[in-house]
Amino acid sequence: MRFGMIRRAVMAALILPSAVMAVETAFLLSLYYGEYRKLEVGKDHAYVVFSAARIASQTMPAEASATALYLEDPSEPNRLILQQARTALDDEIRSFPQRTVDDPDNAPDLRRMQSAIDALLRQRDSVDTENPSVDSVDNVFKSASQAYLNIVDRVRSNIDDAALLQDLQLLRYLLDINEAGLELTYYGAALLSGKSLDAEQTDALERAIVVDKAGRIQLQQSIDDPRVKALSEFDHSSDGNWLEGAIASIERDTVNSAATPPQTWDRIQEGRTRLWQQTIAALISDIERHGDQLADRARSQLIVLVSIVATLGLLITAIILLAMKGMKLIATIRSEREAMILELRDAAQTDLLTGLYNRRGFQSAASALLHQASANRDWVSAILFDLDHFKRVNDTYGHDAGDVVLRTVAMIARANFRPFDLLVRHGGEEFLALLPGSSAEDAAAVAEGVRQAIENADIKLPDGTTLRVTASFGCAGISAPAHQDLLTELLKRADLALYAAKGSGRNCIVVDAGTASDAENPSFTTA
Ligand code: GH3
Ligand code: MG
Ligand code: MG
Repeated sequence: MRFGMIRRAVMAALILPSAVMAVETAFLLSLYYGEYRKLEVGKDHAYVVFSAARIASQTMPAEASATALYLEDPSEPNRLILQQARTALDDEIRSFPQRTVDDPDNAPDLRRMQSAIDALLRQRDSVDTENPSVDSVDNVFKSASQAYLNIVDRVRSNIDDAALLQDLQLLRYLLDINEAGLELTYYGAALLSGKSLDAEQTDALERAIVVDKAGRIQLQQSIDDPRVKALSEFDHSSDGNWLEGAIASIERDTVNSAATPPQTWDRIQEGRTRLWQQTIAALISDIERHGDQLADRARSQLIVLVSIVATLGLLITAIILLAMKGMKLIATIRSEREAMILELRDAAQTDLLTGLYNRRGFQSAASALLHQASANRDWVSAILFDLDHFKRVNDTYGHDAGDVVLRTVAMIARANFRPFDLLVRHGGEEFLALLPGSSAEDAAAVAEGVRQAIENADIKLPDGTTLRVTASFGCAGISAPAHQDLLTELLKRADLALYAAKGSGRNCIVVDAGTASDAENPSFTTA
């Protein structure tokens, strides 16, 4: 069907581009989503590194030195300073982005971190109630700091952001050097003041010197990084040179307090330590900023993702609406066309004035009726009836009034024939009825009813006057019509009967007494 094709074409025009669009969008979505996930993960890692590094290098050492100060002098102001340091550390431990590192691979490190924190809390109690040695306190802080740095090392393998990795690398050197520097300051000062170190302390000092040296070499590689500029300038300053000499003499075991006074050592080391700390702090805030930038970019990416999904949703909705509208339109056109075809077919078979079958409609209906009668070996009868002196009606009341009369008579006839009788406007003011399953006598009985109904009807004309008319009827019957030609015969006989009815005074019924096969000799009876 043509409509089927149109429908398929409309569907194809809508669905094909939508399918291509859907594929493109899926591709875009996966691209943007991948980028978004990468940024999110990068951001999380940056925040873990930032938090862990700050705890290990700043907040934890701050509480350590506040604790040492308090143990030395448990005064009220020192207790307050300690309290503040503890609160600051508690806050940072609480806000550490644990979720990001909650990965089965990190479980041992996380456990170590937790037990280090537990030890630290227990130690706070002992600081408050007993008087523990500064060294033992320091060890607890060191191992807690180390536990956080281990987490940093652990996440490093998952980071693929080049800038973040570089910062992390630099941070790691700085933290190591800082740690070693603190040991070096402490034990170096002891040596320069003439104290002797036990084997363990000597070991620690030697390790610190090795790390310190290695750290300086590493830093030379980052010499272009403006953040380490101050450190390298320090190493090349006179203080830096002095320190290098002093460390060399410690290494060679040729310490001479006159040449290397402990006060100078303390002063220079203190300045250097401050520089380390400042550099570490700057680097840590860079890492935090980096995390913020990644978070911003991830957010923008998310907005793009949501926009793509929303746009696609809108487009798909629009397409569905269009498709529905198109289908509805096609359905409407189709049903209108079918109704129009029916109407045209009806119009071709119907008489416009009376609404009865016209001759053309009669032909097809009659052949079906005859076929049925033949199959059932049944009677079929025809009644031809014609209005009497209708010309006078036209002449007296006008053609329009004549039309009203014709319409009314058709209505009366329709109401008085049986529903299965075929009724036709045969021409002018002449009507034909075909009655299945009826002999000529049966037909005459039906005709009589119609005749009386016409005779008794008050026909109202448009100008308000009423009118009565009569009609003459001719009936003929045939048993089991075997072929179409017999219909012509039957009508001929009915026509003759009608003619006879007109001849015998009108407003009466004449029945053809013979059969169609006996058409040569019709005989008439007047009703
Ligand atoms: P009779 O009793 O012998 O049948 O007389 P009659 O005047 O009815 O017969 P005649 O055949 O002489 O006239 C029929 C008239 O019917 C002629 C024609 O003007 C009129 N007629 C035919 N068709 C129509 C129609 O559609 N509308 C109207 N108003 N008149 C029609
Ligand atoms: Mg007439
Ligand atoms: Mg006539």
